Amino acid sequence: MHPAHSAALLSMDSSVFLQHISDAFRHVFDNPDKAGISLMQYLPEDQWRYLKEQGLLLPFLPPEWGGRPHNQFEIQEVLRIAGHYGVGVTLRTGIEGALVLQPLTEFGNEAVIRAGLDLIFRGEGGGLAITEPAVSGSAIAREMQSAYEHIGNGRIRLTARKYWQGNSQGDFLLVAAKERSNGRLGKNISLIFVPREHIRCDVLQSEGLRAVRYAVNHIDAELPADYVMSLNVGEAGSLRTFQNIFIRSRLQLIGMTHGIIEHIAETVVNYAKTAIPFVAREIHEINRRRGVSAVLYDYTCTEVTPEKPVSGQLLEANVIKALATEYTYAAAQTAQKLLGAKGFEFGHPLSTIALDIRPFTIFEGPNDMLYAEIFDQFAKPNDAEREAGVKIDKNQNLWQRLVDDSRFSGSRSAAAAEHAALAEVRAQLKHTGFGDVDALQKVFVGRILAKWFVLARCEDADTFAFLVREIRKDGLEWQDALAEPEQG
Ligand SMILES: Cc1cc2nc3c(=O)[nH]c(=O)nc-3n(C[C@H](O)[C@H](O)[C@H](O)COP(=O)(O)OP(=O)(O)OC[C@H]3O[C@@H](n4cnc5c(N)ncnc54)[C@H](O)[C@@H]3O)c2cc1C
Repeated sequence: MHPAHSAALLSMDSSVFLQHISDAFRHVFDNPDKAGISLMQYLPEDQWRYLKEQGLLLPFLPPEWGGRPHNQFEIQEVLRIAGHYGVGVTLRTGIEGALVLQPLTEFGNEAVIRAGLDLIFRGEGGGLAITEPAVSGSAIAREMQSAYEHIGNGRIRLTARKYWQGNSQGDFLLVAAKERSNGRLGKNISLIFVPREHIRCDVLQSEGLRAVRYAVNHIDAELPADYVMSLNVGEAGSLRTFQNIFIRSRLQLIGMTHGIIEHIAETVVNYAKTAIPFVAREIHEINRRRGVSAVLYDYTCTEVTPEKPVSGQLLEANVIKALATEYTYAAAQTAQKLLGAKGFEFGHPLSTIALDIRPFTIFEGPNDMLYAEIFDQFAKPNDAEREAGVKIDKNQNLWQRLVDDSRFSGSRSAAAAEHAALAEVRAQLKHTGFGDVDALQKVFVGRILAKWFVLARCEDADTFAFLVREIRKDGLEWQDALAEPEQG
């Protein structure tokens, strides 16, 4: 067990623990003595450490390393609570919890885990370094150039250039790199624990998210070979495991965005001229997006568990990440608009959210790419089908597949399948075979599929009606893209 955690924090009932975390946030952000924390600047480290001492990251830490008992709801709740205090606040919780602590404890050896935990709980923590300046995020696993080589005496040499790492300038980075041997770069990806003294940072001036530091990180260092955390575990190859890190973190990301969208919906009424009918309608539109977010939040709380693999949930993870970020961004933009000129004031709480939330649609996979991937997953057997040896008939039309794929079934499937206003989209799906869908169309079909996933589970009538409208709009855009002459 890690010495920093008190036994009381570990034995609290879940509801008591979550109340304790809420109180800790209030102590830091609502305390008049501490007023002056600006989300347009880096968060004060002493305040951040206080939150960690109060147990903020314990739900992400496995019990065998001194964490709270496995409980997905607690993970989602700490992210959601943090979301009420700013985008950067919940993002830093997510970076340290989902991108650092979870992979570190899953793939590190004992010495690396101990060193990492010490820096996380007693220092500034670290970040996860995947992206490289010269390689598109969508091709990173294939084209990654960062490399390490075994040089004897239990040492490696790592050469890496990474950019846009959240929590850059912290105590360490987990750096993704491929092994080079005999001058050749292998395909396998590992994570390497790299302490701060080996990293040269060129600070990035980001447009927003000043509360989280970003940089271009240069590494050219000799390190102990046991700092390499192999992702080649069990039967899964390293690329599969690498992908699984993102599946889990995309599934969990809804905790962050749900807290943020709740905060937008609750705060905008304090600033907007709600007596104007159109303004009232726009606030209703924000709340409808919050309704979609609530369905996605429930999905992760009930269908994901920290100790079980998530490899079969790529489609679901992409749906959650893409819709959660798209709708929270849209809600933030609407809220900012409703402030009029005040929304353009530097540091206004709601305009800060609108600025800070935008990159959520980019990182962890840009949404357009995720929509295309949703289609690719839809074309493949789901977990249950794979186990039963079912092969997907590529001669069937997309509607037939949608009806058969259990990932799209839920309490409202029948209502969705029969809804009169969706007749045109249904017809469009019926007239489209898998072979008809090219790279461009994948994005449009993926958008429809993502919303259908929620529609099939959506109990709230108003949110259901909103999704029907959104799907019809997507259908029109798809038709429009089909009618356009080829670009190129
Ligand atoms: C604020 C912020 C924080 C970040 N945090 C981290 C971090 O902590 N660690 C880290 O390693 N990296 C981080 N990143 C980097 C981030 O993960 C990458 O920027 C992201 O993966 C996208 O890669 P890219 O910038 O190369 O865009 P590209 O892959 O070049 O994509 C650019 C655009 O092209 C389109 N596009 C790309 N592929 C497709 C496709 N297949 N189908 C349709 N359209 C497509 C999309 O519109 C996309 O937005 C962060 C970035 C930002 C801005």
